[in-house]
Amino acid sequence: MGLSRRGFLKLTGVGVAGLTLGRFGIELGPVSVYAAGLKIEGAKESISICPFCSCGCNLLVHSKAGKIINVEGDPDFPISGGGLCSKGASLKSLHTSPNRLTKPLYRAPGSTEWVEKDWDWMMERIARRIKDQRDQDFMRKNASGAEVNRLESVFHLGSSQVSNEEAAVLHQMVRAFGIVHFDHQARICHSPSVPGLAECFGRGAMTNHYNDIANADAVLIMGSNCAEHHPMTFKWVIHAKEKGAYVMHVDPKFSRTSARCHLHVPIRSGTDIAMLGGMVKYILDNKKYFSDYVLDYTNASFLVGEKYSFKDGMFAGFDAAKGKYDKSAWAFEKDEKGLVKRDQTLQHPRCVINVLKNHYDRYDLDTVSSVTGVSKEHLLKVYEEFCATGRPDKAGVFIYALGWTQHSVGVQNIRLSGIIQQLLGNIGVAGGGIAALRGEPNVQGTTDHALLYGYLPGYHNTPTANYQSLDEYLKAYTPKTADPMSVNWWQNRPKYLISLLKSWYGENATQENGFGYSWVPKMDPGVDYSHLYIFDRMYKGQIKGGLCFGHNPCQSIPNTHKVRKAWDKLDWLVIGEVFHNETTDNWKRPGIDPKKIKTEIFLLPSAYRAEKEGTISNSGRWHMWHYKAVEPLGKSRNMGEMFVEIMNRVRALYAKEGGAFPEPITKADYPAKFDAEAVAKSINGFFTRDTKIGDKEYKKGQLVPGFPNLQADGSTSSLNWLYCGGYTEKDGNLAKRRDLTQTPMQAKIHLYPKFAWAWPMDRRVLYNRASVDKNGNPFNPDKAVIAWQDGKWVGDVPDGGYPPMAMEGGKYPFIMTIEGHAQLFGPGREDGPFPEHYEPAETPLTVNPFSGQMHNPVMKVIKSDMDQLAKNGDPRFPIVLTTYNLTEHWCSGSETRNGPALLEAEPQQYVEMSPQLAAEKGIKNGEVVIIESLRGKTEAVAMVTVRIKPFTIMGKTIHLVGMPFCFGWTTPNCGDSTNRVTVSIGDPNVSIPEYKACLVNILRTTRGSELGA
Ligand code: SF4
Repeated sequence: MGLSRRGFLKLTGVGVAGLTLGRFGIELGPVSVYAAGLKIEGAKESISICPFCSCGCNLLVHSKAGKIINVEGDPDFPISGGGLCSKGASLKSLHTSPNRLTKPLYRAPGSTEWVEKDWDWMMERIARRIKDQRDQDFMRKNASGAEVNRLESVFHLGSSQVSNEEAAVLHQMVRAFGIVHFDHQARICHSPSVPGLAECFGRGAMTNHYNDIANADAVLIMGSNCAEHHPMTFKWVIHAKEKGAYVMHVDPKFSRTSARCHLHVPIRSGTDIAMLGGMVKYILDNKKYFSDYVLDYTNASFLVGEKYSFKDGMFAGFDAAKGKYDKSAWAFEKDEKGLVKRDQTLQHPRCVINVLKNHYDRYDLDTVSSVTGVSKEHLLKVYEEFCATGRPDKAGVFIYALGWTQHSVGVQNIRLSGIIQQLLGNIGVAGGGIAALRGEPNVQGTTDHALLYGYLPGYHNTPTANYQSLDEYLKAYTPKTADPMSVNWWQNRPKYLISLLKSWYGENATQENGFGYSWVPKMDPGVDYSHLYIFDRMYKGQIKGGLCFGHNPCQSIPNTHKVRKAWDKLDWLVIGEVFHNETTDNWKRPGIDPKKIKTEIFLLPSAYRAEKEGTISNSGRWHMWHYKAVEPLGKSRNMGEMFVEIMNRVRALYAKEGGAFPEPITKADYPAKFDAEAVAKSINGFFTRDTKIGDKEYKKGQLVPGFPNLQADGSTSSLNWLYCGGYTEKDGNLAKRRDLTQTPMQAKIHLYPKFAWAWPMDRRVLYNRASVDKNGNPFNPDKAVIAWQDGKWVGDVPDGGYPPMAMEGGKYPFIMTIEGHAQLFGPGREDGPFPEHYEPAETPLTVNPFSGQMHNPVMKVIKSDMDQLAKNGDPRFPIVLTTYNLTEHWCSGSETRNGPALLEAEPQQYVEMSPQLAAEKGIKNGEVVIIESLRGKTEAVAMVTVRIKPFTIMGKTIHLVGMPFCFGWTTPNCGDSTNRVTVSIGDPNVSIPEYKACLVNILRTTRGSELGA
């Protein structure tokens, strides 16, 4: 029997009815006395999940008479063991805050106040505005005459705050309306993780899971301050350290993370590729790589085509007129059968390992040190300690977060960690991998469900006008390989996409009409519909209205001055929120005359986490159910209900009146009422008719047992193939599992395979078939993830289930890449097959010692009269600014600033600076200063601290300052957004803004004297 710690107590009655355990021989007198006096006696207990970081800490919420009276950590949750950080511990005060939005509020155009309205009035008017705008602006064809069926003048933004079930109905609604300006927080926190990791390994998610960090022999935390920002992660870092792991923190400033590591290494923000490029050179020069792994499991032996070259910072294929690379110049060389040519001796000058070696030959210690500001001693120490894991019996893990993602080279920062982990043989193994600590509460799940313009749920590219039919689309996006040893899992895309279309359009999706493919809006190829472009087009008057749920862009998008002005120009706006914030109240921000803002605003009060049920997915892909503890406060409702009602009201209008291209709305198979449990089943998927697969028969309406059963003939539906297998006829809703039992092999590596469920197919460690040799024997038997025993795999769910590579029927382990190998050379990204150091868009340098190319040549540059960039080495703005989170406040702070204890602990905007910079500027600790860039100004209290030191970069002193991005004007006296000064520059692959490096100056001032709107 699988029995948890709490299950044991409950079974025996302690903590519920106060029975004793005396019969088990345990003295419980004191426990009984204590329990009798508990404030939670007689309370209802519900399991919920913390709505902040991606650890997804499970909570026990106690309620009495419909009110939350206590929130505490769940001791059975394997990641936290019952611990909570300050945010999770404050959840009761946030749920019960008097600042909560509890009734629908309406703001008429030009009005100076909110007016309370009832839900019915609000929803009817919202539906009317959406329909009228859609009818007015709907585009059947684009400028080239291709059918596109889209709506450009309306946007949707948000939200990583919603559950997976809410995300699924939201996505369906947005596509039905034809909206293409569609984005959420993943864009600005972890959008680089998907293409960065997928280009290396085939999937875009954190490779292992939180508890697995304890298995590492070396931990390199870079681009993350996880002790403060993902606190429960750090518990497992400390476990690893206690077991002998060497733990390093590479980060511009000293923090609580640094304090508990063996080594803190300060680095100039924006130079991670230089430092990691030096590590690649160190590995190759000193033969520190795991040679069997590199040869058998990576593309090290593949021959790169003759067209490929790299000269002075530029890869072959650059088209200056288009400002883009032609990636065909980076293709592998193939033989007459279509197989990639390989040199297993690794001698050919064009085999990947040698091209890699040539590329990073320039990254010597002197140059890397002069660019990064890291001493040569520190560089060598980090390289030696981490690269000592390039052996079968050792493992090292990279831990990163926004410190890597929020750069104009964000994707390539992550790519380079993937290249290093391939060389060291650290992927698929326990204690290895790349721990992408995602930013927002359910940003993993909402990325999987694709609240992003460029994907459909389950990582299918959104169709463009180039693909007018389903066949054309599937031909373009279904990869082929000539190698029979490669699984090439994406060859199954037709099954997953057609099952999605069957879910969206039900009986109306038929073979004859391409399963409703023409009803899915088509983007124009090459056009970017993400945040930076949404706000630019809004600023230019091209976007008229939109929906914004659980998101605070007027605080959290860079160059906030422009974003706020753009927001002023909207005709109408629908917002769903838990609290007022800088976005809901933008129309009355300081310095603005509300009468001049003509936006009609509908503000819908949202239920908070413990007031609703559903699933979230944490960074480790654990898919977990949270229960409703109490009814939503006041008149608030969960967002799923709001989306479903909006869609159905718009649908009713189309049914009654007709209008522009109504089919995607009227023919949608969409719930009449939101029911999280029912949507969870639809996400998993059903058989749409009686079906036989192999010798098994399934009845119409049965749940599909797993994604290998999904079909391309319309006989199955699934709102997201990745989650298919999470809700089955046999086991029910697996996200609700609380079973902590493990086999001894699983327990040794803290696998917890029966707690909740993990995508894909309950696999806990991705790529785990690379943790064994070609015969299926674990590289490290002490920490085996899987092993081939008696003709079958034991341990974790194997990645693909095929026999080991050397056996009959064996396959390569990286089943998601086309050729079955992890990719050292990655030909699919926009800015090169290898990461290359470029300076941030704003840099204090005038020369890049690695090449003549200063900046990423294909980075996204937004151009308007409000988007200025400082020139290289601009003497007016000599200081580098980096930005970050706080333990007490989360992201834009729009929730946590309403927690009295959190606000008391971190009350105010500040800027951290070194004593040397403070002395240069004549600034004293605690003084108010102005931080100024070419975009504008903001103010903060000066925190003069030795946690930040000046850097010596190419012989020159460069100062760096740091500011949290959590403070805004709506909570009194706490300062305004750091993003008033940051840049609208984006990574070329995903357009994540470069929040982590821009140029500023700092001036002494008097509080509030110089700030405008
Ligand atoms: S913020 Fe993260 S670490 Fe803190 S309690 Fe919530 S989920 Fe856990």
